[in-house]
Amino acid sequence: MIIAIDGHSSCGKSTIAKSLAKRLGFTYVDTGAMYRAVTLFCQQNNLIQNGVVDEENLAKRIGEVSISFALNNSTQLQDTYLNGINVEKQIRSMEVAHDVSTVSKIAFVRKAMVEKQQEYGKNANVVMDGRDIGTVVFPNADYKFFVTASPEIRAKRRYDELMEKEGKANFDEILENLKQRDLIDSTRKESPLRQADDAILVDTSNMTREGQLEWILSKIQL
Ligand code: C5P
Repeated sequence: MIIAIDGHSSCGKSTIAKSLAKRLGFTYVDTGAMYRAVTLFCQQNNLIQNGVVDEENLAKRIGEVSISFALNNSTQLQDTYLNGINVEKQIRSMEVAHDVSTVSKIAFVRKAMVEKQQEYGKNANVVMDGRDIGTVVFPNADYKFFVTASPEIRAKRRYDELMEKEGKANFDEILENLKQRDLIDSTRKESPLRQADDAILVDTSNMTREGQLEWILSKIQL
């Protein structure tokens, strides 16, 4: 079974997807982490400067990008690895957040990621979150949810999360970044972010985490 969870940036998709996968005993795949890892690869190899990607050289080197996930025993969550190195913390930085939507617009980057994502769905029950899971990666997913919330509420949640993890955060910068990413993600030519016609809309603005999970679970029949 495939459960696709798409939606806007920082709307709590991954929290929902992780807890849903845990409750159902499914594999969770964070496709945003994959695009973030490619972005980090670009930054580490000078393939992006001032928001401009050196597409010619990235195309030559995309085959060198190997992304994998492994369980972190202390958090009990999956960490992201780029070419064997744990990059979980780095890919969540604002620096990566600034460039990720630019890198994600590139057709050959998407093609490489989508192929890998489809592989994950071949032999397992998965909950996959992203922007194009219900529209492009798994158009025949068993269940599709489209998650959103107001930009201010999303920025506040992200702000609280960063404050808790890092002890510092800038609300205005976060709000600006998520609006910018939504704009780029939903207006790009290649698989833009949009609600699939058969996706169930979940507006989490006034829902608690537990409420979101229970509501989604009530829609799923195993
Ligand atoms: O989900 P997350 O916020 O980590 O995703 C980071 C970025 O990766 C998004 O803003 C988007 O540009 C890109 N992305 C995408 N397609 C996906 C998942 C993420 O384009 N399936």
